[in-house]
Amino acid sequence: MNILCTGGAGYVGSACLRWLLRHGHEAIAYDDLSAGNAEAVPDGRLIVGDILNGGQLTDVMAQHHVDAVMHFAAVASVPESISDPDLYYRVNVLGTKNVLDAMRRTGVNRIVFSSTAATYGFDNPMPLTEDADQLPETPYGTTKLAAERMIADYARAYDFGYAWLRYFNASGADLDGQFGEDRDHETHLIPIIFQVVNAHREKLMIYGGTFDTRDGTCVRDYVHTDDLGQAHQRVIEALKPGDGRAYNLGSGTGATVMEVLRAAENVVGHPIAHEIVDPRPGDPAVLIAGSDRIRSDLGWDPQHSDVETIVASAWRWHQQCPDGYASKPEAAAGKSG
Ligand code: UDP
Repeated sequence: MNILCTGGAGYVGSACLRWLLRHGHEAIAYDDLSAGNAEAVPDGRLIVGDILNGGQLTDVMAQHHVDAVMHFAAVASVPESISDPDLYYRVNVLGTKNVLDAMRRTGVNRIVFSSTAATYGFDNPMPLTEDADQLPETPYGTTKLAAERMIADYARAYDFGYAWLRYFNASGADLDGQFGEDRDHETHLIPIIFQVVNAHREKLMIYGGTFDTRDGTCVRDYVHTDDLGQAHQRVIEALKPGDGRAYNLGSGTGATVMEVLRAAENVVGHPIAHEIVDPRPGDPAVLIAGSDRIRSDLGWDPQHSDVETIVASAWRWHQQCPDGYASKPEAAAGKSG
């Protein structure tokens, strides 16, 4: 299948794009590189473009004979969405509309959408099923939910097939350590832990130590990016025009912040500096995915989403590329950019 990956140079998008290429599909990335990295995309597979440019999107879909779209492109920081909702509604809502309109114009009728656990309200029982109440607590979650609903409305009217894939905590790195997380302003737990190990930060601030959890720190469901890749492949291979599917993507087990830290200490072989500070606004105590639906519908079988494997793969990446893609030899030689 010929798949256009918007946001295909981003952390999750590029991991899924590389997975698709390894599993019998053609795929190209359409990415404005505002958060993505050209080095994360295999040579010749990147088109630099913005989803807010509907004309370019339409041209690319037509010229590349696209069969299906995986729509990863988004802005995705909860605190930023609170301070800058304008950006979030523009990129996540209007950008999604542009993708759908380009699909209509070019006759592309299948879309897999990167949604999020942040579309669920905090009062649902754990593990979350796909039928849990969607009452997002943040502008980020609201924009992603609006995009979900818009996709369903377009699908009904114009006979698209769609899937909403609600990610929990996407994490880990390529198993050979060649590709991983690299953001200008890192906020995520696992890369921050390794920034401390690499002396790029003094210590890990643990947000909250008195939650109602087994050790007082927040529980999250960490899912490896290769397992997200497998899920995207299974979904797109099954998706037919007229289908509407919603799947949670998580391991189904949770780890506390302290457990993730301990796993990282085991991998690096020494203690990692940390301090417990006040909770971060908007952080729920526990988020765990119920992902039985995709397992039983499509045989999704995550292989790398235990915390030890996730942390070990992330450490390989941070060891080999302590400055992210800028430390890869081909980037240093100015080959890509
Ligand atoms: N976290 C933390 N210190 C940090 C970053 C994150 O204690 O510097 C915690 C955060 O409160 C959450 C978990 O680690 O409970 C995962 O956070 P992350 O930002 O990686 O993902 P999120 O769950 O917010 O999507």
